[in-house]
Amino acid sequence: MITALGGGVGAAKFLEGLCSIIGNEPLNIIVNTGDDIKLGGLNISPDVDTIIYRLTGAVDRKKGWGLEGDTFNFLNSLKKFGLDTWFNIGDQDIATHIYRTHLRSKGFSPVEITSKIARAFGLSDNISVLPMTDQDVETWIQTNEGEMHFQEYLVKRQMKPEVCRVAIRGIDSAEPAHGVIDSISGARAVIICPSNPIISIGPILQIKGIKEALRATQAQIVAISPLVGGRPLKGPADRLMRGLGLEVTSAQVARLYADFLDTMVIDIEDAHENQEIIDLGLKTLVVDTIMSDKKKASNLASSILELL
Ligand code: GDP
Repeated sequence: MITALGGGVGAAKFLEGLCSIIGNEPLNIIVNTGDDIKLGGLNISPDVDTIIYRLTGAVDRKKGWGLEGDTFNFLNSLKKFGLDTWFNIGDQDIATHIYRTHLRSKGFSPVEITSKIARAFGLSDNISVLPMTDQDVETWIQTNEGEMHFQEYLVKRQMKPEVCRVAIRGIDSAEPAHGVIDSISGARAVIICPSNPIISIGPILQIKGIKEALRATQAQIVAISPLVGGRPLKGPADRLMRGLGLEVTSAQVARLYADFLDTMVIDIEDAHENQEIIDLGLKTLVVDTIMSDKKKASNLASSILELL
């Protein structure tokens, strides 16, 4: 059994490669839900959906999120009512959010709902997508222009405000969802996907008991840096890290995970950071981590499994 921790697009790309080489071995994916947002009464869980869409071949590969061939008529129709339409919800995608919201109103938990959505999309039986917690948590970004929900910062404000602080609302009382701790304790390997360390992996690690489970597990723990050449390939990892006073390097990402990590995987462009990471007491793997297609993602996954 392999367990992965991840956010959205970076994680989904890697996991697609991993799934193509693990056969029927069980894979549990613990997914960040700090990016979740309630809009127009709908429960939206972007990272969970991105992973399910990708692993079932439904994703819009160009964008990395949403559904292939989706249209945006619903969103355009909302505009005439003067409602907020900055969050991109496609016409097919909205069915997922309506289904999730409907099941929430019937009392189903996010873990149960995610499983139903995953099976409806045809996710293989050996793969479980586990939202990190069943409680509602939300990532808020404090900026020089005020505090805003992470999605507002990312999508509406296009990452323009300067980041001062990140707060995950509700995290202190959030319990790991059913299956999360067991999937860490019982795994032969735990893989931290190439996801944003502050707002994708960070919230998962802040949930009660998860760091302890990572420290205690017998599993080999490997993390893949989401930075290549000292920069994220997409998204605000650099802005967030800098805003929190952190260096934007793979060595810094390794430092964030050092107390439970065995091996840090970094890109060949960052090979000069190798010794700094070894000095943290970690093993390293220096490879091409740019997953520009499925083949490259499965090559990366293969080199990690070989190491394990
Ligand atoms: P988000 O919630 O969709 O932003 O998803 P994640 O947190 O999973 O992914 C964002 C991170 O994935 C960014 O920091 C990217 O640099 C990283 N990422 C995306 N594609 C790749 C890739 O091909 N290789 C590596 N190493 N990182 C990637």
